[in-house]
Amino acid sequence: MSPHARRSGLTVVSNRLPFVVSKGEDGRYTHRPSSGGLITALLPVLRDRGGSWVGWHGATENIPELDTLLSDAAKESGYHLRSVDLTEEQRRGFYHGFSNEIIWPLFHDLQSLCNFDPSYWRVYCEVNRKYAEVIAQNSADSDFIWVHDYHLINVAGELRSLGVKAKTAFFLHIPFPSLDIFVKLPWRFSLLHAMLEYDVVGFQTPRDLRNFLQCVRVLIEEASVSAKGQAVRINGREIRVGSFPISIDYNGFVKHANEQEVAEKAAQLRTELPNRQLLIGVDRLDYTKGIPLRLEAFRNALLRYPELRERVTLIQVVVPSREDIPQYHELKTQIERLVGEINGQFTRPGGWVPIHYVFRPLKPTELLAYYRAAEIGLVTPLKDGMNLVAKEYCACSIEEDCGLILSEFAGAAAQLQGGALLVNPYDIEGVANAIWRAFTMHPAERRARMRRLRRSICDQDIFWWVDSFLRAAIAKDLSAFPLPADYTPRNDIGFMPY
Ligand code: UDP
Repeated sequence: MSPHARRSGLTVVSNRLPFVVSKGEDGRYTHRPSSGGLITALLPVLRDRGGSWVGWHGATENIPELDTLLSDAAKESGYHLRSVDLTEEQRRGFYHGFSNEIIWPLFHDLQSLCNFDPSYWRVYCEVNRKYAEVIAQNSADSDFIWVHDYHLINVAGELRSLGVKAKTAFFLHIPFPSLDIFVKLPWRFSLLHAMLEYDVVGFQTPRDLRNFLQCVRVLIEEASVSAKGQAVRINGREIRVGSFPISIDYNGFVKHANEQEVAEKAAQLRTELPNRQLLIGVDRLDYTKGIPLRLEAFRNALLRYPELRERVTLIQVVVPSREDIPQYHELKTQIERLVGEINGQFTRPGGWVPIHYVFRPLKPTELLAYYRAAEIGLVTPLKDGMNLVAKEYCACSIEEDCGLILSEFAGAAAQLQGGALLVNPYDIEGVANAIWRAFTMHPAERRARMRRLRRSICDQDIFWWVDSFLRAAIAKDLSAFPLPADYTPRNDIGFMPY
């Protein structure tokens, strides 16, 4: 059937396809779907509309049966998978280079960590073009193309130059920096213009949206921003813009956290670490997560509030990530040195160890047991698009007898400030004070705060997010968002708003 004969569908585009190919002990390759709230939330829409997902397949070696694996995965998932083939050199320049050595640090306000290698930009453009070609071959003009994240900013422009007329939307999962930071980017004009090639552009928080609009106002003379800051007009086109805080499958997390296996593991942890409050930190190995400063703050708390000694344990989980980039490797060494130092300073031989350090990915049950067992969630990134760990921690705190310490520079702070203890992650004494405050907080206040947090996450979960973004993509006036309070789209998003 020609793509033009079918009804309009959704094409989701992301750096990676939502499944993982791995080699078993018998030497055979298998595939399994990736997990994550976004995938769960998009699934019903993709299935309902007969949509497709475009992305890199993730295989770094030559897999002869890749096509078969892809078509099996597509059959199981209920939507089409369109794979983008990339050479190792392209992955290096596009993913490791431009995306993760330039945009990632710059958009997280860490310009000193950027490597502005000019060759990266060329490969980024070339690879974005490749994604656009795969999309163009597999979509109709009546489709809606939803591109995700900073790896693929140029895709809409490339689609236009290929003659694709379909409506396009972009969601930036990471922060958008302030003008002063953004202007450091050697390709600032090209990148900003590329974002304005979409029909809809979404950000995590009002702050990111404000930053973007400020850059547009100052850097693009021919563009004008609407009075309410909900649209940009340029060359006779209108681009709708808005902020949509991404979230988690709240009910899914609550359900899983209630399972017996999780409860047993959490209880076992409590038995092994008795008579104390547990603090939990869970982060990918990344310099934006502020792990060394957090460890310093924990040390400071133990020094300035001696009553905490033997009465608290910090469980710091670090999930390995991007270790082939030297900065990440150095960060790992720095974290391990600090954990060693702090444990060396305070450990009581044969008894209390202040920090339990876990450096590996956790199984979901294990992660949820940590969330459930801990009285204090410690989430202190230097800057974060949203930070889903903060939301997952609250969702899994089903007894509601615990507290969240949250960086004011996490996107989640905009939504969770009513219940969390907000901290400046650079302020070591301030974070230490928050640890003491959370430790000594009256149970009634803890409960009231946690209840507020959980209600807000439940009301605006990942299904709400998908639904409100897609509605905004067709709404004339973005002030219609957020949706009315009596509208509960959870688990019921079969509709496509166009
Ligand atoms: N996570 C994981 N494996 C682990 C620990 C955590 O996959 O061993 C997940 C966690 O559940 C969360 C995600 O990693 O959904 C981290 O998301 P977040 O937004 O906090 O930070 P990011 O890593 O995306 O910057």
